[in-house]
Amino acid sequence: MTKNKEKNITLSLRPITNHKIRIVRIITQLVIFSLLNGLIFGLARVSLILPIEYPTGGPFSTVWSGFEALQYGLTIFTFPYLVIAIFGLFGAVAGKTTCGWACPMGLFQDLFSYIPIKKKKVSKPTEKSLRSFAVFIIIFALVFSLVIGISYNKNGAAAKDAYGIWGNIPYSVLDPVATIFATLFYYLKWGIQAETLGAEMGDWKFWFIARIIFLAIILILITLYPRAYCRWFCPTGYILGFFNRFSLFGLKINKNRCPTGCNKCEKACPVQVPILDYDKNITHPNCTNCGECIDACPEGALKIGFRF
Ligand code: SF4
Ligand code: SF4
Ligand code: SF4
Repeated sequence: MTKNKEKNITLSLRPITNHKIRIVRIITQLVIFSLLNGLIFGLARVSLILPIEYPTGGPFSTVWSGFEALQYGLTIFTFPYLVIAIFGLFGAVAGKTTCGWACPMGLFQDLFSYIPIKKKKVSKPTEKSLRSFAVFIIIFALVFSLVIGISYNKNGAAAKDAYGIWGNIPYSVLDPVATIFATLFYYLKWGIQAETLGAEMGDWKFWFIARIIFLAIILILITLYPRAYCRWFCPTGYILGFFNRFSLFGLKINKNRCPTGCNKCEKACPVQVPILDYDKNITHPNCTNCGECIDACPEGALKIGFRF
């Protein structure tokens, strides 16, 4: 083999070797996505609640989504101890790691972010302001669920049924994650059956259009701003992001190995974490421990691990 040929092979392999963590992560995400849709492979549904965004009512879903379980618990006027414990446990141990490595909506957004269109960034204050959407969604979903739960407690199941499509998991009516992985998956499975869908969704036409418009906005945003749904809208991500500041496991920087401040890590970060603002533990609520910055750092100054 000539020297030139050897050089070409090395160059063509470079993009792969530069993204070792990304490759492991995508494989992990795909395996977990398959398990979450295990009904396709004959697996059974299990009573497992996870802090991820995936519709519990999806045609192939095997587990419960934490935020959906939280809402459902409130609509039947039950204090959701278990869901709160699961969020607390996952968050306190690993912060937002499930967002980087397990959540199907995270994988979906990552795939969109690979569309070769120039990505945009927002300023730090704008980033902070946009996160208010997630707070609004959390308050809307939990207060509405509690109102339904109080009606249910006073007047029984008929009062809950009166809320129609909102009665079980209010945010799922508009949730783009449910639109992708439940509504559209049902279409793929059975085709468009307006009568069946109408029976399931009641006033489905209006809300179907509303949820498609919301989904379209999210698709545009995630194409231009990587993981925009995670950063600005996702209730689960907002809750887990809160735990990043004290989670046992997470991203760390060794400033002694970062003499140049080359900024390659921040450029590689899909969710605009200001990595160099931190001296040791990177506790920003957007960080999903995805490892893109580790792949990008030429000095080995960043690593993910336990923080004690
Ligand atoms: S922020 Fe939400 S949508 Fe994004 S990866 Fe986490 S749970 Fe999934
Ligand atoms: S700071 Fe690093 S690990 Fe955290 S989200 Fe950004 S690239 Fe991923
Ligand atoms: S990529 Fe590494 S060396 Fe460069 S600024 Fe970031 S941590 Fe420092």
